[in-house]
Parts: sequence; structure tokens; C-alpha cells
Amino acid sequence: MSTEKLPSRSENFSEWYNQIVLRAEMADYAPVRGCMVVMPYGWALWENIQQALDSRFKATGHVNAAFPLLIPMSFLEKEKSHVEGFSPELAVVTHGGGQKLEEPLVVRPTSETIIGYMYSKWIKSYRDLPVLINQWGNVVRWEMRTRLFLRTLEFYWQEGHTAHATAEEAQEETYRMLGVYADFAINEAAIPVIQGFKSDNEKFAGAVQSTTIEAMMGDRRALQSGTSHFLGQNFAKAFEIQYLDQNNQLEHAWTTSWGLSTRMVGAIIMTHGDDQGLILPPRLAPIQAVIVPIFRSNEEQSAVMEVVERVQAELKAAGVRIKVDDREGFTPGFKFNDWEMRGVPLRIEIGPKDVEKGSVALARRDLPGRAGKSFVPQAGLATQVQEMLVTIQAALLARATEFRDSNIHEPQDYEALKAVVGDGWAYSWWCGDADCEAKVKEDTKATTRCIPFDQPGGKGKCIVCGKESDKKVYFARAY
Ligand SMILES: [Zn+2]
Repeated sequence: MSTEKLPSRSENFSEWYNQIVLRAEMADYAPVRGCMVVMPYGWALWENIQQALDSRFKATGHVNAAFPLLIPMSFLEKEKSHVEGFSPELAVVTHGGGQKLEEPLVVRPTSETIIGYMYSKWIKSYRDLPVLINQWGNVVRWEMRTRLFLRTLEFYWQEGHTAHATAEEAQEETYRMLGVYADFAINEAAIPVIQGFKSDNEKFAGAVQSTTIEAMMGDRRALQSGTSHFLGQNFAKAFEIQYLDQNNQLEHAWTTSWGLSTRMVGAIIMTHGDDQGLILPPRLAPIQAVIVPIFRSNEEQSAVMEVVERVQAELKAAGVRIKVDDREGFTPGFKFNDWEMRGVPLRIEIGPKDVEKGSVALARRDLPGRAGKSFVPQAGLATQVQEMLVTIQAALLARATEFRDSNIHEPQDYEALKAVVGDGWAYSWWCGDADCEAKVKEDTKATTRCIPFDQPGGKGKCIVCGKESDKKVYFARAY
């Protein structure tokens, strides 16, 4: 680990982000430009994200399966807007086994087409519905401008694909899964998100309607953090997903898809981190608490380590993800900085004085310095630590929510909108017209992030054209 100071978050957010990802050993650059290597610490965080989501998917009746990486090119061409949306980003395989292939294969950019094809084989009767399948995997989209975790050629994600007998059921599923994402983001990642609809312009290629959870990052830009799409009968018609209903009539199914990716790792870094490095929400942190033993002499060492080992065993038994930093040749000060940089929520210091007094020192990562320091007895420590992790989790969510809310503005006219989206979000009436949306994008680089489900009611004038509207929308610059 480098001992150099990180770039400051307020001065150079983008370099601050890159340095954290590399120095906390979350990910590294791969030899192919735009690809990333997810390192063990980053992957451990992703595994905790996976577990938190997977248990929610299963609790809502979904099962996991695996579909192939390679998809016949002709499949993508079956749904017109889908192929238009994805063709600029496709990686195409033209040769296999040393021979030119008769039909090129695409490396999946998403799996609606191959799964649609399989569903048309599997679904015959209304009794086969609904089909509720999720896949954990990776996809490739040939992005030109890439950032570790935020936008890479290949990324890891889950994609849910469901088929239903009625439009209502498919719509319900779309909202249910967006709700699952929101619940995960808020309660596990401590990221307050806003649920809403994407505009037609911003929706998924092939969807009738896309819904999204949008989060504000530490530089006030927006990050689309998970999406859930109502696909109507678009893919069912393209792939002939048909079933016989109770009256023996042949009907097309209604489908949905929903995905959340390793972008979420970037979201966690950019929402919670500070100038000392990463701050991980305790519920997802691979290491929730680190014990740093402090001693000078051999006698001190054996007395301290005896307590360290006991405390470690107690915390482990209580289910705390705990690590002891017993590396030799590093000062406690170096270790403090190192674990702060890696965002471990809680540090436990145990030195000779603590052994004498039967206490330990706790240091909260979210409150650097004296404010986050406390001295507690060794007896009953596991309960104390668990409670403190809950407190830290809540404090991170509260802080992020307060930051977000104080950076959402309600500009009164177009000039004011142009000013606020430079450094925050605008929450404004919008007539729904694509021209008004395009004008904002052209003038400010801000896009419509979502039309929130939660609307204020009443009517107002479109911030761009002045036409009366009953919908408010968030405009922001986004990742
Ligand atoms: Zn307008």
C-alpha cells in the first residue's frame, strides 16, 4: 500500500475515486482496454451484495439458472429497438475452432433474446406461468469511455427474466423487483435512492416502460443503480412465447427483465467515501471490525495478544466479520491509516493499558478522530460492537440522505435550472416532450434521471417550454 495521501475528494473527485479503487485493492486494470480485474477485496464486497439480493429474489419466488454467453446474431435482430439500442456496443465472434462461423455470434450484452428463445420452448400452457428466473453472470458492452466498476466492457451483474399470463402481473413484477432494489440499496448499502420511471428516451432498448433507482454520488452527479423493465409483449412476439389460456386460446406472454450490476460497488465508494478513503456500510463490509494490537516489548506482546485472541473469538462467535492485523514490521499508525483507507467500519485497539483496565478502544470509521473514539469494557464487547455497527449503518444512511436532500433544488425558471444542474439536481415540472428533454441535455449535459413514483400532485409549468404538466422529474448530470 502506498503511504502517499489520496487526492482530495472535493478538489478532484474523479482521481480520488480511481485512487481508492486501486489502493484499497478493489479492482485493477486489465490488459484489454476497458476491462477490469475485480480483486479479492472488491469481490468479497460484491459477494455480500449478491447474498443480500439473492435472498430477496428467493423470498419473492425466483430461482436461479444459467444461460450461455454466446448468442446467435440473428436473435438480436428479432426485436427491432433492441438491436438498434445494442448494436453499437456488441462484441461479435466471427471465428471458432479456426474456422469462419456460418452465423456470427454475439457475446451477450444482456440475455432477453436467448432467454426469450428458451421460454418459447418451455412455456406451452397457462399452467407453466409465471416463469421467474434470475441469472448471475457477466455481460459485454463495447463502451468507449470506461471507469472501473462504473462503466467497463465486461461487468458482473444479475439479470432477472420473467414471463406472465397478463400485463397486470408483469407490471406488478416490474414494480416488485424495483422495490427489492430500493430496499437493498437503502437498508444494505445505506444509499438513499429515488424510485421512478425512465423517460422514453432513457428507457431500455426493447422495453415498454423502464423503472429505475437513482442515487446521488458525493460529487452530486446521479448514478442509475438498478433498473426493472416492463417489456410488454415485445419479446414474446419476437420469440413467439405463447401459451394456451384456460379457454384453449393461444396468447402471447408478458415479460419483464431487471438488473443490478457491479456498478453498485462504485456507488458505495462514491456515496460514502471521504478523504481518508473508503467507508463501507457495515452490513456489506467484507471486514466489519479490525483489531489492531499495540505493544512495544515481548512481555507486552504476549499479554496483549492473549486478550486479542479472546476478543477475536468472542466477536467471531457473535457473527461479526472480524480480522486481526498482526502484520509485523508495521506501526499501529500505519495500520490505522491502511484500514481507514479500506473502509473497515470499526477499529478495535488493544494495548497494554487496555489489558490492565480490562477495556478496549473503539474507533468509528464514519467519525474520524476523537468524535468517533470510545473506550469500552472487554466484558460484553460483542454486544457493544454489534450495536455500534448498527449505529454506523444508520449514520451513513442519514448522512447520505441529508446530503442528497440538500443538493436537490427546485429552480423557478430555465436559467435557474441551468445553474443548479451544474452542481446538484433539479426537481422540476416537465411536459414529457422529448424536445424539452433534449434541450436541457444540449444546454447543460443534464438528463432526465427519473419521473418519481412519488409525485407532489397538482400541476405546474414545464421548466423548459412552459406548457402545463402534472409530472415532476429529476434532471441531473449522470455517470
Ligand atoms: Zn416542455
